[in-house]
Amino acid sequence: MQVRRRARLLLRVLFDIRVEQVVAGETSARYQGSVNWKGVPDPTAAPAHYNPDAPLTGDAASHAFVSVDAAGTPAHWDPCTPIPYCVNTATLPDGAAATVAEVFARVSAITGATFVAGGETALIAGAGGASLPAPDRGEGIYVAFSDPTIVPDLAGTVLGLGGHYFSSWPSADMRIIVGTIVVDTSDPLAPGFTSGLSIGGVLEHELGHVLGLAHIDDPTQLMYPHARPTGPSTFQAGDRAGLVALQAGGCPAPAVS
Ligand SMILES: [Zn+2]
Repeated sequence: MQVRRRARLLLRVLFDIRVEQVVAGETSARYQGSVNWKGVPDPTAAPAHYNPDAPLTGDAASHAFVSVDAAGTPAHWDPCTPIPYCVNTATLPDGAAATVAEVFARVSAITGATFVAGGETALIAGAGGASLPAPDRGEGIYVAFSDPTIVPDLAGTVLGLGGHYFSSWPSADMRIIVGTIVVDTSDPLAPGFTSGLSIGGVLEHELGHVLGLAHIDDPTQLMYPHARPTGPSTFQAGDRAGLVALQAGGCPAPAVS
């Protein structure tokens, strides 16, 4: 049987998360000098350490997908294959290696997806204003920490960038094959998961985009596009339901040729 090679369809999607500038009487880290990461405890902040038994906020329906095909299936990673991730360890803030590992472990606990630490990368997605890496770099997720002097898209109130490529070839569905995360270390992010303005919270939000979640206009959810000191620092009810639904997309169907 002759197989016709189809042009690979690649689409790049990139989102950012920004500091919320004004939210119901509270102001962002950037505009308020005495917030918790400078030593003033925030009694409403999430616990410093992840508590899997903490009650979830929001509605399970409160999620959205980056792209959905005509059949209603969202662009998703192949749930039947472990997903490798690489970290630019030269850019890691102190203590952040454990936070990166925990973010992937959390998603595994929620969805059953398997992530494999794939070693180091020198990549900083978006450095010098460059477009995100082409998939020929290798399928997987690339994580780095940087600042606006290196990644222009981190300028202003942007805390992090997350995006992905998906392809409709060789599989017939919209399969995500490359994801990138860049966290802005020039912003006042707390270590771990101490608040919505933490390294862990931003990493997790951006991983949501990498996996196929879009922003949702619901401030109780981590995929809300603006981070706040008192906002969630981990996936909530709607976020989690969305992540599980992305797994339901199934394994790649063979392309028709
Ligand atoms: Zn976002």
